[in-house]
Amino acid sequence: MTQTTTKYIFVTGGVSSSLGKGIIAASLAKLLQAQGYRVTIQKLDPYINIDPGTLNPYEHGECYVTDDGAETDLDLGHYERFLNVPTSQANNVTTGRIYQSVIDKERRGVFLGKTVQVIPHITDEIKERIKLLGLSGEYDIVITEIGGTVGDIESLPYVEAVRQLKWEMGNDNALAIHLTLIPYLSAAGELKTKPTQHSVKTLMESGVQADILVCRTEHELGQSIRTKLARFCNVKEECVIQSIDASTIYDVPNLMLEEQLDRVVLKQLNLERHQPDLTSWNTFLHKHKNPTHEVTIGLVGKYVELQDSYKSILEAFTHAGAANEVKVVVKSIHSEHLTPENTSKLLSGLNGVLVAPGFGERGIEGKIEAIRYVRENNIPFFGICLGMQMAVIEFARTVLGLSDANSSEMNASTKNPVIDLMEDQKQIEHMGGTMRLGAWRCALSSPSIANDAYQKESIEERHRHRYEYNNLYKTQLEEKGMIATGINPDTGLVEIIEIPNHPWFLGVQYHPEYKSTVANPHPLFKAFIEAALKQKTSI
Ligand code: GLN
Repeated sequence: MTQTTTKYIFVTGGVSSSLGKGIIAASLAKLLQAQGYRVTIQKLDPYINIDPGTLNPYEHGECYVTDDGAETDLDLGHYERFLNVPTSQANNVTTGRIYQSVIDKERRGVFLGKTVQVIPHITDEIKERIKLLGLSGEYDIVITEIGGTVGDIESLPYVEAVRQLKWEMGNDNALAIHLTLIPYLSAAGELKTKPTQHSVKTLMESGVQADILVCRTEHELGQSIRTKLARFCNVKEECVIQSIDASTIYDVPNLMLEEQLDRVVLKQLNLERHQPDLTSWNTFLHKHKNPTHEVTIGLVGKYVELQDSYKSILEAFTHAGAANEVKVVVKSIHSEHLTPENTSKLLSGLNGVLVAPGFGERGIEGKIEAIRYVRENNIPFFGICLGMQMAVIEFARTVLGLSDANSSEMNASTKNPVIDLMEDQKQIEHMGGTMRLGAWRCALSSPSIANDAYQKESIEERHRHRYEYNNLYKTQLEEKGMIATGINPDTGLVEIIEIPNHPWFLGVQYHPEYKSTVANPHPLFKAFIEAALKQKTSI
């Protein structure tokens, strides 16, 4: 069903942030993909950072990393989890990157003495980035999600670019979906359409007529509200789509199918509609909703109070749980609250512990304490990035007796930097995009937990860190029982550590969570949940 021209769908948001544009975009993409269309999604972020790599999780949630090493918005994680298609640098564009590129061109004399302005130079750059994915010929449909809310000063150049593209491409090649909120006023007992009328009007002031309204709501919309919205907002009644709160984000594609979002989209774009094949998606959903067992996993980190900080890890648990038909209850444990005195109490009853990635010193002693406890008490342990580094430090301190063992990130003058900066990282002064990023190869040794889980000798996983396992300590660590079972074949860097003399103890320098999708639950998460279930049934 390959298209000759790529069709574009723009998704804007109104009334409020956090309405879930990413989930709506991913759900629509899923429905189109399930009919045979080749779809990708792009996120345009109106902030001035070049990428979210320099933003802390309090600001912007998790930073998601692609195979080609882009540090991106967490919505790209949703796209990959829903579509099972990798995204890349081109799928996330920020205002910072747009301006950087325009300013570079200006310095190179590309604009030939012209005054460089928001319109046309910034908007042209935005349009170019939007069209780039289509030009690759790999996609029939590109969904472009505009971050922020219409009416924001930052969003204006993006909305203007959408206006121009809609005009240039014509109605059957480009359409605009506006995601909005229909609040329920409990005092009046009514759903209210006025905020939506205003946000559609704001969009129109910039020359963009929404073709489809997707309305987030806590209550069923009802016919009269749909009619009213259609009339006031200049859309067809069939184009008023209800998006009612769901118990899981993975319900949204089916909800959008019921509302026939795919049908109205394909109709306007003049594309054929087929019955979407959601068989494997629905098998996953069925398993997710009908678990036969339950395990409780402790997630030890310093951002545990924030829902979005460990998004990919939590979703990877959902995928792995469904694969095992196990409900995974995640108990958040703040690493700063863990002390030698309270750790056994706070971790008691857990069937497994995952120590999260992170940066900087805050909370690391709590992470080390948690690792000591699970190592000594045979509780399954999964360490990711900083979590793996802390496992090496804990082992070096407790088992090798190197009491000052540390990472040079936390203590630059430690005598025993079991985790250290690589030579090529020592010269780096700039913060953005300079870590070890993206997919790197890793050879697995056998027998090992990793080899058992992946059923492969060689894997590729995504990285985002500066510090590394220090190979000077490898012999000592291995002699005492912490084995390196995954090595980068090109650099010799240790990527995986395990303790064979423990039911399930594994740390990875990379981020497996980024590659877990509904169609492909991550093998290590699956194996970890299996081990947690074993732990539970053995006590
Ligand atoms: N702070 C550590 C490093 O830079 C770990 C990073 C992470 O957990 N992503 O190496």
